[in-house]
Amino acid sequence: MRCDVLVVGAGPSGSMTAKILAEEGVDVILIEQKKEIGYPVQCAEGVNKFLFRDTGIKKDPSFIEQRIDGTVIYFHNEEYVLTGEQWKGYTLDRRRFDKFLAENAQHAGAKILTSARAIGLKKRESGWIVKIKLSGKPMEIETKIIVGADGFRKSVGKWAGLAKEWRTDEYSKCLQYTVPCQDMQEKNKFHIVFDENFPSGYGWIFPKRCKVNIGVGVSPKSNVKKALQYFLKHPITKQLVGDNVVINEIRGGKIPTCGPKSKDEVVGDGIIIVGDAAGMVEPVTGEGIAPSMISGISAGETIAEAIERKSWSKSMLSIYYKNCMRKRYIGSTVGESMGYFLELKRKIYDVFSEKSTPEERKKFVIENLMSF
Ligand SMILES: Cc1cc2nc3c(=O)[nH]c(=O)nc-3n(C[C@H](O)[C@H](O)[C@H](O)COP(=O)(O)OP(=O)(O)OC[C@H]3O[C@@H](n4cnc5c(N)ncnc54)[C@H](O)[C@@H]3O)c2cc1C
Repeated sequence: MRCDVLVVGAGPSGSMTAKILAEEGVDVILIEQKKEIGYPVQCAEGVNKFLFRDTGIKKDPSFIEQRIDGTVIYFHNEEYVLTGEQWKGYTLDRRRFDKFLAENAQHAGAKILTSARAIGLKKRESGWIVKIKLSGKPMEIETKIIVGADGFRKSVGKWAGLAKEWRTDEYSKCLQYTVPCQDMQEKNKFHIVFDENFPSGYGWIFPKRCKVNIGVGVSPKSNVKKALQYFLKHPITKQLVGDNVVINEIRGGKIPTCGPKSKDEVVGDGIIIVGDAAGMVEPVTGEGIAPSMISGISAGETIAEAIERKSWSKSMLSIYYKNCMRKRYIGSTVGESMGYFLELKRKIYDVFSEKSTPEERKKFVIENLMSF
């Protein structure tokens, strides 16, 4: 099999890359190791309302689970309610959302292969030979350009010699229960809980239509299972969800929380890395859906231009990185807001701890979070 561009991974970043390329008339194949795109879900499914403005994707009732009009932050018995446009958002049905994005790419002309796992690659003068297993059968795809949209594992980047292993201070470990719940309190809010038992992280309660995602993200050095067990019995969980939590699904995962990796780790001759694999995640909340889609758009635009100019050297493809950092994301650009959020993250963990007073926290919330 042959193509101009092979995108590995049909999460939000890969599907957006493939969609943009197909719209530009590029011959693109998108491969996904899962049998069903979007399932199983490893996500709390919360997004900021600006995702739709910043990515150009239309909101569709099929994947909107719950409208959110603010976020409540809890620390011990303190409660801070954040409202305003920047705190509005949605809880998605990620299973449907990821499928929707992949279908958009397919309708634009991308070829999609599911149960197709990339297992290695070789560099050639003119591009890459990518080894895959399609429904278990080994085969090869010859491509001019490869896009690593393969999430936290970033295998494509590692095989190409660009990406390094994540350091333990660069990511969070997460674990989440999804539980049925018809009558959750304050269902139109995201709920975030800071606590000493969630080192360098937080607990979340994100409402869905008839379910709730209850999860924790913590430093990889701590015990995430213990943290989640503790959170299930937490007074805030009891207050919002009730005493009798019936566990429907349990899912875990890892999120990069270090901000975007350097250009040299995400761009090379004939290769671009996007989304989680490139560290394109907002480092305070771990919100990666919107940034990964934005990086996919930027990759698609750059590669389409490269194909037209018949040049996909590292210097040509580096335009991806520069443009990605300048793209609109929430209030500013990806580059500016990532820098801002990294600094904010440091301050947040300082202030939501025993080291500071309730007055200091209140001041911090008013000055930094009410109107970021
Ligand atoms: C527990 C948890 C909760 C989260 N909650 C939120 C949230 O509430 N809001 C938010 O915005 N973000 C959240 N995130 C982060 C968000 O899920 C990611 O940032 C986002 O999914 C990144 O998209 P992506 O396309 O880069 O990677 P992914 O969504 O991980 O997609 C990568 C795809 O590549 C496929 N793949 C991997 N290797 C191969 C291979 N070798 N061959 C073929 N296919 C391959 C995978 O199967 C997968 O489908 C959460 C993450 C976790 C773990």
